[in-house]
Amino acid sequence: MNYKEALHHPIFKIIAQSAKELELEAYVIGGFVRDFILGRGDAKDIDIVTVGNGIKLAKQVAKNLPEKTKVQVFKTYGTAMLHFDGIDVEFVGARKESYHEDSRNPVVENGTLEDDQNRRDFTINALALNLNEAHFGNLLDPFDGIQDLKDKIIRTPLNPDITYSDDPLRMMRAIRFSSQLHFKIEQTSLKAISKNKHRIQIITSERIVVELHKILESKTPSLGFIQLDETGLLNYILPELTALKGIDEVEGQRHKDNFYHTLEVVDNIALNTDNLWLRWAALLHDIGKAPTKKFNKKVGWTFHGHEFEGSKMVYHLFKRLKMPLNDKMKFVQKMVFMSSRPIVLANDEVTDSAVRRLVFDAGEFVDDLMTLCEADITTKNPKKFKKYHNNFKIVREKIIEVEERDHIRNFQPPISGEEIMEAFNLKPSKEIGIIKEAIKEAILEGEIPNEHEAAFQRMLSEGKRLGLSINN
Ligand code: ATP
Ligand code: MG
Repeated sequence: MNYKEALHHPIFKIIAQSAKELELEAYVIGGFVRDFILGRGDAKDIDIVTVGNGIKLAKQVAKNLPEKTKVQVFKTYGTAMLHFDGIDVEFVGARKESYHEDSRNPVVENGTLEDDQNRRDFTINALALNLNEAHFGNLLDPFDGIQDLKDKIIRTPLNPDITYSDDPLRMMRAIRFSSQLHFKIEQTSLKAISKNKHRIQIITSERIVVELHKILESKTPSLGFIQLDETGLLNYILPELTALKGIDEVEGQRHKDNFYHTLEVVDNIALNTDNLWLRWAALLHDIGKAPTKKFNKKVGWTFHGHEFEGSKMVYHLFKRLKMPLNDKMKFVQKMVFMSSRPIVLANDEVTDSAVRRLVFDAGEFVDDLMTLCEADITTKNPKKFKKYHNNFKIVREKIIEVEERDHIRNFQPPISGEEIMEAFNLKPSKEIGIIKEAIKEAILEGEIPNEHEAAFQRMLSEGKRLGLSINN
């Protein structure tokens, strides 16, 4: 492979020139090189290592760029970053690291390129391309990362036990790369992760969530979650999920393993949506089943109210992981809360009014809800599988149909409170609420269309029923 091709972007010539001016060695390293070799599309970030002062090199590069460019300096880390042509370029001086038990932040001293490659997490992330004029584009690959790329293997450059213990975030990264790239984590590495799993507790939630997001965003997220589970990490991070594991049997009645079911749902939904939060909803849609599970002689296993319980758990889970407690969380809660609604619908004949109520309750997220519920069909019985999918197809068609007629999705009452007060000469009172509710019900039941005139007539008849007199 000709690695010079990787360096066709003008930024590399400018970095080479700047390094020459400062008499420094410079290399591009890590993800950029890896992703070029894998053909993973255009990079959005580039990491540059120099044997010397990274901040100085960044400033020199900025000077040499065609347009005025700001350098962001992170003094504590000795790194600098600049933004050019839609790419983040990060500069760091080559370093040697030593770690302490209680922190993933090492003590740092200046080092050689080799020292710097030693501190990298994986062989495939330690690849460097030379940017110096005389050797421009030469590959530096001390750990045979190229072979690991070919064999699709995640391996640490040094002893994995030490590598993971030093910086336990690497355990998450190993599993994340495995999930993203469909690579296999090498055996001794996998063992070392299991052994060091407890060390994950020194990692901040924010960092963990970044990796969780990347696992969820990968093509087959179950690859990541199964490895998180098998190494024991998942129990530290998302105990709500490991609580779903296992099948109980009482008097010959068994329930399904809700953990593996959940992973199937996540993989299913990943085929149909890139919406990260909808994928989160798929991951969490059954978490309420662990605390609500009961056995009843007559009906077998039940999970009554698990959707409500689950939606409450979403809040606590987001809070614990320091994820945003904003509209994204509310969306996930809503999806979890409503996750059984369409399937109940699809079991019977699909009526217009049931669909109208579904659209009313799900509002603008009704399509996302349908996507979730379709992914939730994991039955191995082909007859049932077909029946559920067909029913959901009907539900989707009816959603469009009733939406065209009644615009329920962002329902606004066709008659306002003021109008009701005016019509019956009322002060603010509970009658207004009763009439509004009656109009809404009539629309959802399909008794009247969602139009002003029909709603006005219904208001009059409701008022009459309540014994109100009309204001003339
Ligand atoms: P991506 O950008 O797709 O997440 P990446 O490999 O570029 O993947 P970054 O987090 O951007 O990941 O890190 C850039 C490089 O820094 C990595 O390729 C790796 O060489 C090194 N690196 C990052 N995090 C660690 C870590 N925790 N331990 C050791 N090396 C790391
Ligand atoms: Mg990167």
